[in-house]
Amino acid sequence: MSVNKSNPNWRPQTQLVRGGTNRSEFAETNEAIFMTSGYVYESAEQAQRAFKGEEERFIYSRFSNPTVGMFEERMRLLEGVEACRSTATGMAAVWCSLAARLKAGDRLVASRALFGSCHVVCAEFLPKFGVETILVDGTNLDEWEEALSVPTQAIFLETPSNPQLDLIDIATVSEMAHKVGASVVVDNVFATPLLQSPIELGADVVVYSATKHIDGQGRAMGGAILTNDVEFADGDLLQFLRHTGPSLSPFNAWTLLKGLETLEMRMERHCKSAHEVAKFLNTLPGLKRVIYPGLESHPQYDLCRKQMKDAGTVICFETEGGIEEAFKIMDAFNLIDISNNLGDAKSLTTHPASTTHKRLTQEERDAAGVTDGLVRISVGLEDVEDIKEDLAQAIEG
Ligand SMILES: *Cc1c(COP(=O)(O)O)cnc(C)c1O
Repeated sequence: MSVNKSNPNWRPQTQLVRGGTNRSEFAETNEAIFMTSGYVYESAEQAQRAFKGEEERFIYSRFSNPTVGMFEERMRLLEGVEACRSTATGMAAVWCSLAARLKAGDRLVASRALFGSCHVVCAEFLPKFGVETILVDGTNLDEWEEALSVPTQAIFLETPSNPQLDLIDIATVSEMAHKVGASVVVDNVFATPLLQSPIELGADVVVYSATKHIDGQGRAMGGAILTNDVEFADGDLLQFLRHTGPSLSPFNAWTLLKGLETLEMRMERHCKSAHEVAKFLNTLPGLKRVIYPGLESHPQYDLCRKQMKDAGTVICFETEGGIEEAFKIMDAFNLIDISNNLGDAKSLTTHPASTTHKRLTQEERDAAGVTDGLVRISVGLEDVEDIKEDLAQAIEG
């Protein structure tokens, strides 16, 4: 017996709780954790059929696993696309989505303001394999246009970007990319599937670090690649994942399934508190600037309203006193933890220039807006009054 009900027309919150549930013969209420590396065949002939692809079944957990499959299906239904492949981390999703598509002699155009490791993949690793990478200021459409004036195989962008919270016009840039035959890959980690739908805006592939808001409780690493390009998902991407092995563990997939169940409620609270904290920071003395796409002072406030449902969970501020003052404020926090993660139930703070973006040269950091005085806050789920009090006592000294 197996009781599986899934309806593609369910609204997002219902997909988050029920989408993709695949019950075993025991009809368990909660999704089961299938901690198994392999599967048993009824006969040698069945194994032969499975390997020939004549019979669809589980073969080996490097390729597929029931718990991992439930996570992929829930993500797919939430994003409203044709295919989802999961990975062990967000970086595996980024790397595989690009490496499975590009080959020596191809050209990649990427926005410069990227998560530190994404920058390394685009600017260091892919060129090592003969891919030419061109970095542009993602907010500048003229730079995209110039970079996309010759045939290009893929573009990669992150919006809002980490840590500067720059926004990139997904619809316009996707249109430019498609004119020269480039596939558009968007890192949607900061927005989550609930705040922004890159594929609806024209992107071809969307990638997530599920480690961030999707788990959202600091427990598990994971990643996902979603697309309507079934040929890519079932072809090059699947082959790349199968044979290189960045698989999501069944236990982590289960943890992420539980995370998805509460994602909408958590995002609502995260965003509400982030708005309030951003406005509050603006009232404190001694800060050079407060960056949050939901503030009218953000240079892309209008774009935020156009392409995002809400402005996200991360805020940055820049101190007048550079790195020294940034460290002093961070060390003075009593509640907010110093940690490079984000999208967590706990409020976290990072100094990007000395940690996540340390690998970049000073010049690259300047170009990406990662100044020495920049402090990033991932606003958590604590009472917002306690977060504000902690910020006030640390900043006012
Ligand atoms: C964290 C993050 C990643 C990498 O995800 P991991 O799960 O840590 O590997 C990629 N892109 C962005 C924007 C991120 O914030």
